[in-house]
Amino acid sequence: MNLLDGKVVSEQILTSLKSEIEVLKSKGLPAPFLAAILVGNNPASETYVASKKKSCLAIGMNSEVVNLSADISEAELIEVISKFNSDTSCSGILVQLPLPKHINENNIINAILPEKDVDGFHPINLGRLMIGTDTLVPCTPAGIHEMIKFYNIETSGKHVVVVGRSNIVGKPIANILLQKKAFANAVVTVCHSAAKDLSVFTKQADILIAAIGVPQFIKADMVKDGAVVIDVGINRIEDASRPRGYRIVGDVDFENVAPKSSFITPVPGGVGLTTIALLLKNTFLAYQMQNKL
Ligand code: NDP
Repeated sequence: MNLLDGKVVSEQILTSLKSEIEVLKSKGLPAPFLAAILVGNNPASETYVASKKKSCLAIGMNSEVVNLSADISEAELIEVISKFNSDTSCSGILVQLPLPKHINENNIINAILPEKDVDGFHPINLGRLMIGTDTLVPCTPAGIHEMIKFYNIETSGKHVVVVGRSNIVGKPIANILLQKKAFANAVVTVCHSAAKDLSVFTKQADILIAAIGVPQFIKADMVKDGAVVIDVGINRIEDASRPRGYRIVGDVDFENVAPKSSFITPVPGGVGLTTIALLLKNTFLAYQMQNKL
């Protein structure tokens, strides 16, 4: 069993971005700028946004967090987005999800200019991903793909089974690995909660990707010997032995699945770390596209 180490992959991405930004600055060009919009005061969202800003600053990117009240109207939020859309110094815009219930998330995602949509959630970017055109790809699946490339995992002709069909993880990673391209070209099966007997599918997987949101759901008897296992899940479970009273586990029963896998991502320390690195990479790509570099 080998670990797919998100720290190593993300550090390589961040180091390379940092040096590219130094080159820009040495030429007198401005650094890429990420605007992060946070509505309300959900503690998890506050933590995510703060760590995104910190990561930007650490590699020489500029970033601003805009804190908005939970009762802001949809129209007012769209107005804030529009200002960043037309601000030529702003390379990327992210609106931290989830949003309060009175705001329609799709309307907000659609309000972001596709070329500034660093989360890659805009229908235009998702459409481009589906037809295999270069575009801003959602960060978590893009991070999984970087991990596959970094560890030189053979995907062509392999059977990839994705459990989960969300628009932010399951569907985009399936589309990435389906493309007739290097480090893709896989035969992809996507499963969801209506699967009658999930293990019939998961046991066939050369590469199993779990994006379910149920702690330790994938058990050892659901996995083929020698499979590559990528665990996207981030779940809190109670743990009285921890100072916070909980610990983070994935969607895979790591302890029992790891011994039979060829490669596996730990949680924490796997996919989650590459997600932030890919957000920064997307911001850099957005900057390059906007400045035609
Ligand atoms: P969603 O809740 O949007 O999707 C979960 C998917 O799992 C759905 O398609 C659902 O099926 C499917 N599912 C649920 N239960 C079962 C079951 N018993 N059998 C088969 N399929 C099932 O979750 P996300 O995709 O947003 O996130 C998935 C996990 O990944 C979560 O733990 C989340 O915290 C984590 N995550 C981690 C990120 C990272 O940076 N590492 C980023 C984003 C998410 P159906 O469609 O039928 O309901």
